[in-house]
Amino acid sequence: MIGAMGEFELIDRYFRRPAQRAALGVGDDCALLQPAPGMQLAVSTDLLVEGRHFLSTVPPQRLGHKALAVNLSDLAACGAAPLAFTLALSLPRADPEFLGPFADGLLGLADRHAIELVGGDTTAGPLTIGITVFGEVPAGQALLRSGACAGDTLWVSGAALGDARLALEAWRGRVTLAGDDFDATRRAMELPTPRVALGLALRGVATSAIDLSDGLLGDVGHVLRASGVGATLDLAALPTSAALARQDAALRRRCQLDGGDDYELLFSAPPQRALAVQAAAQAAGVGVTPIGRIDAEPGLRLREADGRVAEASARGYDHFA
Ligand code: ADP
Ligand code: MG
Repeated sequence: MIGAMGEFELIDRYFRRPAQRAALGVGDDCALLQPAPGMQLAVSTDLLVEGRHFLSTVPPQRLGHKALAVNLSDLAACGAAPLAFTLALSLPRADPEFLGPFADGLLGLADRHAIELVGGDTTAGPLTIGITVFGEVPAGQALLRSGACAGDTLWVSGAALGDARLALEAWRGRVTLAGDDFDATRRAMELPTPRVALGLALRGVATSAIDLSDGLLGDVGHVLRASGVGATLDLAALPTSAALARQDAALRRRCQLDGGDDYELLFSAPPQRALAVQAAAQAAGVGVTPIGRIDAEPGLRLREADGRVAEASARGYDHFA
């Protein structure tokens, strides 16, 4: 029992729906999935803990959306098509005022990607949401962190790098935003759009990809280490929202380079594929911007707006640092 509503009543009421593509969904000891012949299963898990990954002020519907969105973003980074997901949910009470909108946000995003919730686990405890997503990708075609080559252009999706971090700074009282700016950046933080269609369109075009979850510098660092290369980033090229452009330069830099929670795709492609990259972005309905270049020389360099280049440390967010 979790409060007045029993565990099984809770699952039936909020999370059980008829299986669609899955051979077997919620209700038995395992779900059964059937990837198409020739496809590899892509699997990723993300855990969201209250106070660490989300604020207690987030509306439940947005929390449901975000919990799945951050997982879909990992599939996007691999160029995998989403199939299904499981939900491990720990919550203090079986509160319908939380569960109703939470399930709406979660399953609404699932419906938009035509994927289904096939199982999970539910327990009483501190609010924690663990989702595992399953996707499929033609064998050998997944986008990896390890494929970037010297001379490749580095691209990033979206138009508002750093906005999620700006919203967090506003919640923390470190910056005051005008009403519209606050709403826009809060949406960026609470309602990220996973770039699934872009990831699919970049198969065979991008040489490497990663989704930006821990901050640009740290995530670029993951690609550079996995690929055994270096890079130079053009700071003036980073896509910047109107809200962030109104902030002072130091804050802007912190939000864009160390920010986190962007859920945009960062990917590399040879310069001669620039048109194919643009076509992929157009097909996916999302903007992409070239923000730098992969170098043979190890290390990460930042080119300032005035042309000066300085060495940076590629260290992202680390929960245990
Ligand atoms: P078991 O004891 O075998 O782990 P449970 O009693 O925990 O099974 O769960 C019963 C069924 O409900 C299983 O099919 C499980 O996958 C599903 N389930 C449990 N919690 C959730 C949830 N939060 N969302 C979706 N399905 C769930
Ligand atoms: Mg169980």
